[in-house]
Amino acid sequence: IQRREMEKEFREALSEGQFKLVYQPRYDIKTSRIAAIEALVRWQHPRHGLLLPDQFIPLAEETGLIIAMSDIVLEKACRDLLLLSPDLSVSVNISAVEFNTVGLAKRVKTALQKSGLEPSRLELEITENVTISNPEVTLETMTQLKAIGVRFVIDDFGTGYSALSYLKRFPFDGIKLDKSFVFAMEESDNAKIIVENIIGLGKAYSLAVTAEGVETAEQLKRLKQYHCDEAQGYFIGKPVALDELNLDVAFSM
Ligand code: C2E
Ligand code: CA
Ligand code: CA
Repeated sequence: IQRREMEKEFREALSEGQFKLVYQPRYDIKTSRIAAIEALVRWQHPRHGLLLPDQFIPLAEETGLIIAMSDIVLEKACRDLLLLSPDLSVSVNISAVEFNTVGLAKRVKTALQKSGLEPSRLELEITENVTISNPEVTLETMTQLKAIGVRFVIDDFGTGYSALSYLKRFPFDGIKLDKSFVFAMEESDNAKIIVENIIGLGKAYSLAVTAEGVETAEQLKRLKQYHCDEAQGYFIGKPVALDELNLDVAFSM
């Protein structure tokens, strides 16, 4: 009963515009400036208050309502970016479930057309455990969207299964090193070596590497030493509403 109730509420949320986006900056370590922002969805629930993705994405995936939510997110993120500097890109999270469905390429193209955003300013983040189940569809989607300039990155890199085979098989443009690796650097030298080597691995595959979960100046400094391309995390900036974004940051190291 509770599930059905939530599903009903989710449909209302879609039609009543209860999904909001917050944005988290992605910092280019070499140029010392914010190069992109990532859109993260929130559900402003009329009774339960602000809900985080972990509290409703699983239900959305199970019911297939993720597609409708994602269309809203995609279009809104593209439109919002047009209000900011033309140098910035935006990245949008695409659920595992969606990445294996036919029609994703068309939906992304529709969002780009409706908003008027140049495709080269859009990046899609996909969690690495997804490409497995339907490789042909995934490859077709990527090929179509890459042809117009959309970029693809593997999210939470290092936490899934056959990451290395994906790097050869699918035309990804970058990887986002999962925050657990960045956190672990504090505790052991071994973890530092692992981070340095994953960054090297990314380079060997000509992929841009973004480190997630950067919470301290110390972590950022190390990532710079390891020639990591981008950093994201609370130290750079927390996820905030569009009009609260501070894009004028530079960290001296
Ligand atoms: P993600 O894509 O890995 O996003 C990063 C998550 O880590 C965000 O949580 C962000 O608030 C949090 N985070 C960022 N920097 C730091 C840091 O320095 N330290 C710590 N401890 N955490 C940090 P959030 O917003 O709760 O999102 C959780 C997950 O929900 C996302 O993980 C993403 O997989 C998913 N998600 C978010 N928005 C969407 C969406 O529009 N569509 C889909 N399909 N999934 C989404
Ligand atoms: Ca992400
Ligand atoms: Ca991530």
